[in-house]
Amino acid sequence: MQKRRFFFGFIFKLFIVSLIHLTFPKISFSKKSLVKTKVLFNPIFLKHHISLDHPESPKRISYFLKELKKSNISNLLEEVVLDHPKTIKKWILTIHTKSHMISLKKNYPLAEKVSTSAIQTCMIGLDKIMKNEIKNAFCAVRPPGHHALNTGKDEGFCYYNHVAVLAKYAQEKYKLKKILIIDWDYHHGNSTEFFFYDDPSVLFFSTHDASAYPGTGNESRKGKGKGLGYNINVDLPCGTNDSEIINSFKKKLVPAAEMFKPNLVIISAGFDSRLDDLLGCYKITDNGFQILTQISMEIANKFSDGKIISVLEGGYNIKGNALATLAHIKTLNNF
Ligand SMILES: [Zn+2]
Repeated sequence: MQKRRFFFGFIFKLFIVSLIHLTFPKISFSKKSLVKTKVLFNPIFLKHHISLDHPESPKRISYFLKELKKSNISNLLEEVVLDHPKTIKKWILTIHTKSHMISLKKNYPLAEKVSTSAIQTCMIGLDKIMKNEIKNAFCAVRPPGHHALNTGKDEGFCYYNHVAVLAKYAQEKYKLKKILIIDWDYHHGNSTEFFFYDDPSVLFFSTHDASAYPGTGNESRKGKGKGLGYNINVDLPCGTNDSEIINSFKKKLVPAAEMFKPNLVIISAGFDSRLDDLLGCYKITDNGFQILTQISMEIANKFSDGKIISVLEGGYNIKGNALATLAHIKTLNNF
């Protein structure tokens, strides 16, 4: 009798397990196939030159790609397809003025096209995250974007603000209401501050040396109107090391993020805050960037289901930029 009960129990369990597999085959498949991180790139980012021997050069990307291809995470690299660039225009206009766009197209046509491609790459990265194809993305783009204002010309090697347009895209297309932008570039992200200064839906956290270009980033600048308290500037002097910048993340970023509860984390990943940079004088090591990445991921894991999109800004020591970027990506992929 007991044997019979055991046999029928076994057959019943087999039936239930088969039913689950037949009904939800994608669940077990997607878990196995999920790649955590993608490094998104397009050859157009190698075409833009400011001038001969300028530090913001295509070598910043080409050397990084060479190192990535030699590494054990070369499988994360993906060349994105950039079609229908005209559809990007309406998103750029959520941040930039039409006259700025017209002026860039007229005076810097190639740079304008490359910066537009950088924005599209960021948008493709977010699309992939929202489709659950990946958990996070690093956009290996140039030129940088966090100094770009609406002046009709480039500002600090920047033409359009890629992370600002991406934040608007995330809010409007995917209804991700609250966006945290973390900017650890050596320079202040003055344009990101400018565009969201009175906006409580975007928390902007920036570590930088306010005595360097563009001279902004005073800690007294905390936002205005409804945006008061949603702009956090941390002015760190020349010589800042790992423990000092990590401390500011733990003491200032984490509590603010806990209050804000972001639906998406965007990183303005500038590696000119790394030691030995040509334009910076901080002493952040590759291990330091790994810890900053971990802190950012802990915030994302807690509040935004791990969704992070990281976008290259500065970083002008060709080798240093590549090493720090690799350390950052390995952490994004392994945490
Ligand atoms: Zn910079």
